Parts: sequence; C-alpha cells; structure tokens
Amino acid sequence: MTIKKFLTESYRSPVGAALLTLILPYIYAIFTNKDWIAVIYNIPKEIWIFLAILLLLWIITISIRRKMSFYHSPYGIVPTFGWINVGEWEYDGVIWKARTPNPGPFPDKKPSIYIENTPRCPICKTELEQSDKFYWYSWSCVRCSFRKITWNTFSKVKKRVEKIVKRNIEVAEEEYFIKHGNK
Ligand SMILES: [Zn+2]
Repeated sequence: MTIKKFLTESYRSPVGAALLTLILPYIYAIFTNKDWIAVIYNIPKEIWIFLAILLLLWIITISIRRKMSFYHSPYGIVPTFGWINVGEWEYDGVIWKARTPNPGPFPDKKPSIYIENTPRCPICKTELEQSDKFYWYSWSCVRCSFRKITWNTFSKVKKRVEKIVKRNIEVAEEEYFIKHGNK
C-alpha cells in the first residue's frame, strides 16, 4: 500500500493521527518531567480547532475517495465476427450504446447485450473522456463543450446500465410470453 493510498483510503490514518495528538504531549511530558494533563491543557485552543478541522477534512476526503473507488475489470470479450449495435440508452445524463456479438454463421444462439465501456456525449455522441480530479471525476467531450462532474466511474455506471437493459429485455420477453404463449 502506497502512502497516498494509506492517507486517502483508510480510516485508520486519521484515527491514528488523533491518537498521536494525545500521545505526543504524553511523551513530551515524560521527557520534560511535566504533568501530561497540564501539557495538553496548555495547548492553545486555536491549535485544537485547527487539528479538529484538519481531522474532519481528512475523514471527508477518505469518504469521498471511497465512494469514488471502483474495481475495474480489465477483461472484456472480443467477438470473432465483431459487434452489432442494437440501440442506445440515456442514463446518468450521457448516452450508452448497447451492442451484441455478431453471431456470424451461427445465428440461432440467443444474443447477449453488452454496453460499451465508454459512454457518449449527449450532445454530439462522441466518446467521452474521464479524468480523476481527486475529489471527483470529470467526464468531458473533446468535440463540444459538454462536461459533467461525478463521483462515479464509467465502469460503475456501465454496470448499472447493463443491469437495467438486461431487465428491460426480460420484461419484454415476459410480456411477449403473456401475449403469445411459449414460442
Ligand atoms: Zn460532445
């Protein structure tokens, strides 16, 4: 674990820092033969307020970074016969293209729907870019002025869209079944 990761992802670090704030005057008191409580008591109020604000900001930073974290799976399928676009959905203010592997010479297989990893600009449909601004992600279009601030990554929202689309297809199939019976 890198220091940056430790400082931004674990609640242990601010808790540790708070404890250290109490332990350091104690060590100081031992070496100077002073009363520990008196040492703490003599620390100016402004320093306590400063430390409290620092601690609060630190905890807020960790909460936000945790909310922003998402495991990104590096694996994806590469279909032999390429993709067929099957539609697009607007979700979270951007466009998500849905596609299915081209079945090639085996068209009887029931196709699965996949959502493109990168969403499209809602204005000009260009693939968006994502950059990590530490406290948020910026999704921006290189072709027009579209820009969006979010705590979610492309992959997190993509997974959600995939769930919704999958359910929409199930609903359509169920409705078809009710109307026409099995097959
Ligand atoms: Zn655009």
